Amino acid sequence: MKAAVVPALGAPLEVRDLEQPTPGPGQVLVAVENCGLCHTDIHAAQGDWPVKPKIPLIPGHEGVGRVVEVGPPLGADSPVSVGDRVAMPWLGHACGRCRYCVAGWETYCTAPAYTGYTMDGAYAQYAVAHASHVVPVPDGVSSFDAAPLTCAGVTTYKALKVARPQPDETAMVVGIGGLGHLGLQYAKLFGAMTVAVDVEDDKLQLAKDLGADHTVDARDDQAEQLDALGGVDIALVTVPSPAAMRAAHAALNPNGRLVLVGLPADNRVELPVFETVLKGISVIGSLVGTRNDLADCFDLHARGRTRVVAEPRALEDVNGCFDEILAGRIPARLVFDFAS
Ligand code: NAD
Ligand code: ZN
Ligand code: ZN
Repeated sequence: MKAAVVPALGAPLEVRDLEQPTPGPGQVLVAVENCGLCHTDIHAAQGDWPVKPKIPLIPGHEGVGRVVEVGPPLGADSPVSVGDRVAMPWLGHACGRCRYCVAGWETYCTAPAYTGYTMDGAYAQYAVAHASHVVPVPDGVSSFDAAPLTCAGVTTYKALKVARPQPDETAMVVGIGGLGHLGLQYAKLFGAMTVAVDVEDDKLQLAKDLGADHTVDARDDQAEQLDALGGVDIALVTVPSPAAMRAAHAALNPNGRLVLVGLPADNRVELPVFETVLKGISVIGSLVGTRNDLADCFDLHARGRTRVVAEPRALEDVNGCFDEILAGRIPARLVFDFAS
């Protein structure tokens, strides 16, 4: 099978012809139809974060396709069957027994496996996944659209859910890329007034097209623009930039919530304590979402409540795709199309 492989941290990906993997106990083999390119895959290939991925690595945690084989000993007990269309999200496996799994916080499991990071992902014609942690894709959602929802969608949906937007509040989404273009739509669905922030004309236009109440160009003085809007109550920062996080914090009103989602390589941000205390600001970290959260995202999409903005690409162009994203040249998401 064809797969894109990170041979060493910081090295370009290699598209290789590999042997098709075999599903182990409790696993399924999925024939991948589409896989989105999340900015996380770039961080993974570059080894940006304190915890490094497996090497060699097949990235990809926005994979969607059909189950073609169920591994032993599941058989008829498998939660999914041959022919089912499923998504393979970042949370590749969770123990199901620790206090976080039991309490409905499986994304903070004490013994997790991460798709396309600690286990091989879906930049491949076939991928192995744990049957218990794939998520069925309903008929009303195409595989192409399901791919970005599988990480970009569920991550921003959950990040807003934990920030609990109220209808009289303003939610700001910083970065209108893969994550942010969906986050903006969820902020509207949660009933908040919305502010979209980016540094690219195309992304600011996209935010307007998606119904943002206000857009702010972070190349100009964003503090002044946000002040004129009366500040914000929620700031969801998808940009992996400490400076963007500090600017978002500075725009928060009393009782404001800063939700950190983007993961900068330098892993540090300095925030003022005095303003945080005097305004009662909460700083929240949020990691992807649960299987239930993803089912919600698919359901909202099937009912026409969200729009996925993405372009198809061939897996052979993977290194060019990384460059396109880093240069800010793409509409919102790139999705590998294995039919092409
Ligand atoms: P992306 O590259 O598609 O989007 C980033 C956007 O930020 C682009 O639109 C870009 O123009 C904009 N931008 C850049 N600098 C900016 C600035 N200073 N101010 C405002 N906007 C700016 O990336 P993505 O796939 O949406 O991922 C974003 C980040 O989220 C990555 O760090 C990724 O690893 C992380 N991530 C986190 C989780 C999680 O669970 N916490 C899940 C998925 C991705
Ligand atoms: Zn992701
Ligand atoms: Zn657990």
